[in-house]
Amino acid sequence: MIRKKIIKIVTISGARPQFIKASVVTAAFARTPGMEEVVVHTGQHFDANMSDVFFAELAMPAPRYQLDIHGGSHGEMTGRMLMGIEKVLLQERPDAVLVYGDTNSTLAGTLAAAKLHIPVAHVEAGLRSFNMRMPEEINRILTDRISRWLFVPTEAAAQHLRREGFAEEQILPVGDVMFDVALHYGERVKPEGGLLASMGLKPGAYVLATIHRAENTDHPQRLANVVDALVFTARSMPVVWPLHPRMRAILQQTGRLDKLSSQLHLIEPVGYLDMVQLEKYAAVIATDSGGIQKEAYFYKVPCVTLRDETEWVELVEAGWNRLAPPLDAAAVLAALRASLGSHGAEIAPYGQGDAAQRIVQRLVSDLT
Ligand code: UDP
Repeated sequence: MIRKKIIKIVTISGARPQFIKASVVTAAFARTPGMEEVVVHTGQHFDANMSDVFFAELAMPAPRYQLDIHGGSHGEMTGRMLMGIEKVLLQERPDAVLVYGDTNSTLAGTLAAAKLHIPVAHVEAGLRSFNMRMPEEINRILTDRISRWLFVPTEAAAQHLRREGFAEEQILPVGDVMFDVALHYGERVKPEGGLLASMGLKPGAYVLATIHRAENTDHPQRLANVVDALVFTARSMPVVWPLHPRMRAILQQTGRLDKLSSQLHLIEPVGYLDMVQLEKYAAVIATDSGGIQKEAYFYKVPCVTLRDETEWVELVEAGWNRLAPPLDAAAVLAALRASLGSHGAEIAPYGQGDAAQRIVQRLVSDLT
């Protein structure tokens, strides 16, 4: 079929997990004749090791627009993004806007587009924690409400949208783009060399920890419980913790960074391939990240989720993931111990590894 015009998509990206998710979709756009993707980087994550490293490693072209908006309160950040993105959309006049996940960049992109009557495609739609105190929950509910295409990664996500009354034709089960990324890069990563060798870590004999959610970083008692459990664990097994910039700042402000550095392997955020190596060969992963819960499962590593609830319920049901709300250190420690050496049931909840291709195909067919 001969298309009349080029289909133009503006992608809004701004935070680490979005760069990773976008890598496979951007590659699928690039393979598709008649498509033009214009990438806007809001600037939400801006450090070289939170942003540039992913564009380099995952072979993505530099974003066409850099809005350089970060810091400030949620309202200020989202408001400034809304203004910046609106200007870009007025200039580019795309056929659709693509957003990922649940950050302030996601919400700002969606709102700017919807007000200009530009249809929005939401990748990772339908996830719910049912915890309205999470900024991410607010962002994702509002984004879903005003998006046209709801690309859901799991059956649970589709069910949530059905329950909320969305029309069946809007709910598009394509699988999880993070599964696509893991299939693409996971195989390449080996236990020899790399970060493991330089840190003197043995495959299968260390714990990997990541903590960045406000509910833990901004709650002194919860954070203390997590830290105590990790310090205790480190007596018998090394604990590696790539510190999110916000987490590092809090440990510094509270005067704990120096002592902790002598007890745990506290490192800077790492690139994606180093992270995959750390994940793939960990004995257990302790995290409050959404993406890392799934990556643990992709590499068949048991996971302890340091939260009260999770959006990725299928992993808890199948026994790959344990919820350990950090209400006391002993409970976190017990979950870590119980996870060691454990395996879950065989499941396949995240599609076939072709989510990116399906997303692009659907947009092409609806916009042609
Ligand atoms: N990640 C990384 N380096 C790090 C920590 C995380 O590359 O030091 C990757 C991780 O592998 C996953 C993504 O970042 O693909 C998860 O991002 P994050 O935990 O910041 O956000 P969430 O998934 O909770 O939205």
